[in-house]
Amino acid sequence: MTRRLFQGVEGEIDETNEPSSGKAAPFLIPDPCSLFPAFDKLREECGVVAIHGHPDAARQAYLGLYALQHRGQESAGIATADGHHLANIKGMGLVSEIFTDDALAKLPGQMAIGHTRYSTTGDSALLNAQPIRVDSVKGLIAIAHNGNLVNLGNVRSRLERDGAYFQTTSDSEIIVQLIAHSRASTLVDAIADSLSHVEGAFSIVMMTRDRIFAARDPRGFRPLSMGRIKNPDGPDTVVFASESCAFDLLRAEFERDVLPGELVMVTEDGVTSRQYSTGVPQSSCIFEHVYFARPDSRIFGRWVQESRDQMGRQLARESGVPADVVVPVPDSGVTAALGYAEQAGLPFRFGLIRNHYVGRTFIEPEQRVRDFGVRLKLNPVRNLLEGKRVILIDDSIIRGTTSRKIVRMVRGAGAKEVHLRISCPPTISPCFYGVDTPSKRDLIAANKSIEEIRRYIEAASLAYLSLEGLLQSCDGDEHNGYCTACYTGNYPTQWVDVDEILPVTVSL
Ligand code: SF4
Repeated sequence: MTRRLFQGVEGEIDETNEPSSGKAAPFLIPDPCSLFPAFDKLREECGVVAIHGHPDAARQAYLGLYALQHRGQESAGIATADGHHLANIKGMGLVSEIFTDDALAKLPGQMAIGHTRYSTTGDSALLNAQPIRVDSVKGLIAIAHNGNLVNLGNVRSRLERDGAYFQTTSDSEIIVQLIAHSRASTLVDAIADSLSHVEGAFSIVMMTRDRIFAARDPRGFRPLSMGRIKNPDGPDTVVFASESCAFDLLRAEFERDVLPGELVMVTEDGVTSRQYSTGVPQSSCIFEHVYFARPDSRIFGRWVQESRDQMGRQLARESGVPADVVVPVPDSGVTAALGYAEQAGLPFRFGLIRNHYVGRTFIEPEQRVRDFGVRLKLNPVRNLLEGKRVILIDDSIIRGTTSRKIVRMVRGAGAKEVHLRISCPPTISPCFYGVDTPSKRDLIAANKSIEEIRRYIEAASLAYLSLEGLLQSCDGDEHNGYCTACYTGNYPTQWVDVDEILPVTVSL
């Protein structure tokens, strides 16, 4: 294998291929969220795609990742296979920055897996970007993983005692090492055996030289859908993606969700599937419906847009207040605000405009400007807000700092009253399943009453959607079980980091 490191782009090519000359990514400036604590949103986790049976699989994976960019902007990678060789290019930055035409041309084959990442475990270095490729006794395996393992330490030390050598600090590699060390005789048995030994959240796509695998953890924390591109002249292309919105760009038809505890294998002979785990209650992440997933995606058997609309309507039923206008905090608050406005019979207005071009580079003003971070991203529409009683709809309050700045901004634009409504319950506990949340000590709702939060953010009133209201809003056809641990502190697994859930009063 030839292994090269570029400025921001890494190429790994099988020794039988020419080495990659992946084009360097632009100088990487950290995400504005990390520069401005003002953006105290929870961070997206990762997005994965897999393609089987397409002459330009790399480009299909690229398009799929492009549609999933909202799930992670730190690094991205694509691995391809042509039945003999396995190539892999990954880099730091956005999908479009890494995968130029030149880079895609170096990824031949009819199969591909791809990954876009915001790191939740392991550091953020290029080394941990995915897909991770491991040459094991079971052959070459590339893996891309969305989620977070919670019994990581135990499994890792057991594997190290058994002689495993880890190339990265990413938990995805643990799964590959488990596969390599499994006593099962076939690869598919080894994968099923390994997945049953890890605890936590994972939606995984894997590739060997001639096969694609896709699996979800037994509780189905993270979404993973399967689709198909019909080929009139040959076998269909089978695709997998974290969210169904990726299928639209690929012109693929949504077929079904990969089930919790299911392992799907795609070969030249078609699709086969097995349940490697049964009898575990489903606990899909309800926050995917609240915030992470795109509204044009169908996850856990339900359209995200429909869930958010219902959240807004239920919020209006639970905590309506006399007002003149409903204004969303863009973009994630928009659908819930539409539902709220329709239910309340109030006009919906875009009273805050989001600058979508706040990029990864900018020049700070010389003189410190108050609330600069939020002003950079949002701007009020004064003529829509002046003299109005405004209902402001957002999807979460994490530390409270951003909410306070936004409320001040709306009032500063002339609003008479600002009533903040949140389309989910108070976030009181951190997540251990692939969502980057602060510790309990930094979550404002874990340490302050709703009235104390209202005073801190300087709103005329504050209300959250009830847990029952949220569950009702996300009650899909398949009657899913949901994880609601960040709102309840009731974790569906036994493994949690006790330090992270210690309450310490925040100073306001
Ligand atoms: S703790 Fe919250 S964010 Fe994490 S999986 Fe559960 S619902 Fe989702």
